[in-house]
Amino acid sequence: MNLFPIFANLAGRRALIVGGGVVAERKAALLLSAGAQLDVVAADVTALFGKWIAAGKARHCAEAFDEQQLDGCWLAVAATDDRRLNARVAAAANARRIFVNVVDDPSLCTFQVPSIVDRSPLMIAVSTGGAAPMLARLARERIETLFDHSWGTLAGLLERARARIRERYASLPARRRFYETLLRGPVMRLAAARRFDEANAALDAELAGSSSSSGESQIPDSDLHPLPENGSVTLVGAGPGDPGLVTLNALRALNEADVILHDRLVSPDVLDLARRDAERIDVGKIVGKHHTPQAQINELMLAEARKGKRVVRVKGGDAFIFGRGGEEIEFLREHGIRYSIVPGITAAIACAAYAGIPLTHRDYAQSVRFATAHRRRSESDGDALTAAGETLAIYMGVAEAAPLRDRLFADGWLADTPFAIVENGTRPEQRVVLGTLAELVERVQAHDVHAPALLILGAVAALAAQNHWFAATPVDK
Ligand code: SAH
Repeated sequence: MNLFPIFANLAGRRALIVGGGVVAERKAALLLSAGAQLDVVAADVTALFGKWIAAGKARHCAEAFDEQQLDGCWLAVAATDDRRLNARVAAAANARRIFVNVVDDPSLCTFQVPSIVDRSPLMIAVSTGGAAPMLARLARERIETLFDHSWGTLAGLLERARARIRERYASLPARRRFYETLLRGPVMRLAAARRFDEANAALDAELAGSSSSSGESQIPDSDLHPLPENGSVTLVGAGPGDPGLVTLNALRALNEADVILHDRLVSPDVLDLARRDAERIDVGKIVGKHHTPQAQINELMLAEARKGKRVVRVKGGDAFIFGRGGEEIEFLREHGIRYSIVPGITAAIACAAYAGIPLTHRDYAQSVRFATAHRRRSESDGDALTAAGETLAIYMGVAEAAPLRDRLFADGWLADTPFAIVENGTRPEQRVVLGTLAELVERVQAHDVHAPALLILGAVAALAAQNHWFAATPVDK
């Protein structure tokens, strides 16, 4: 081991920082958040330092460094751009056995500041011992995605209950099991949903329930914390295909899943992000190509959740935009299954961006509407889709281009309105076909456009010709 890792308690303890620029400022901010009493030595300080000093958080103790300023300090930071001065600070600190960090000069440091993931009171620190600070930073970024902020909430709750937990689970293995089940149970879920009072109450219930003063040894291990009776369902919008468009929350849900139920539209690249040993069920395959027996999917979700599993229901784009997410949560609610929802980037937003089409534009479009070409039969025809200065994004529209065009004409859209069809939006094979409404059917046929494809109608659609940046160049013939 190159370096010994420690977490230092600096609350109310003096620390000296030499330097008043932006680099010093970053270190100072960290020291202040740990509650250190900060002495700053610098001829000039940044505006933020100025604020800290004015607010009494830091003390501007001198313009020039003097060894005596180190007396009474617990640690020191040299963060000036003068290497010789930094070396003097380091030498003086060493002489006094005060830990010192010299910014950008590991050879002079007696302590280093790690990259951190701050979920206070949970703190994860990463270091390569100066070997490759950039690698530590990259590691930190990865870890950052794994722990959402509810870990901090949870750690805070547990801090409060620490004594009771120790009392209730005296042995280390029992305590370990308790913590493990806690991460899967209602306390964590409520913390993640930011329902603090309920999370607290659930923790209290957990500690009060099934307790026996006669000692845990009488209870078989497996009975201490059986899986929660019901699991939960997370409805995840996985975006249009590019795995880079998956949100951090979606990634976390995929990482924690026991069972993943996904549609055909969810790209394999996205599913690759999921936990390896999660069971995957392609509900698109199960239900066949034609009618979607939503009831069958609902029953499957219910059955898995009732086994105590964490079910992740993954949908293309966003679950609440032509994704039947509303129906699924109604069903879950009626059956008392807990759910949470992770929004996704819907096809219209993503396809427009990847084709260079601003859906609204001060000059061309003041509003945007998401519509589907499929309608329930009971709906009356002829409720106008059009409005001046509006962009219309039509989902599931290209399969029946002719009736769609006719309806758009009937609704008052003009023959020369520009359209853009984005097929396989955000995927490497993305194609964009441009034209005017009069040419829609002919273009769809000429280019053999297939699902998934999105139709964008309105003046902004024409901007793809000049703004495009992703994959194949748009075609307009
Ligand atoms: N919930 C999804 C939409 C499901 S409806 C969402 O929010 O995006 C299915 C329709 O979405 C497809 O017929 C197509 O019109 C559109 N779509 C989904 N992914 C797409 C993609 N990668 N490229 C183009 N259109 C897409």
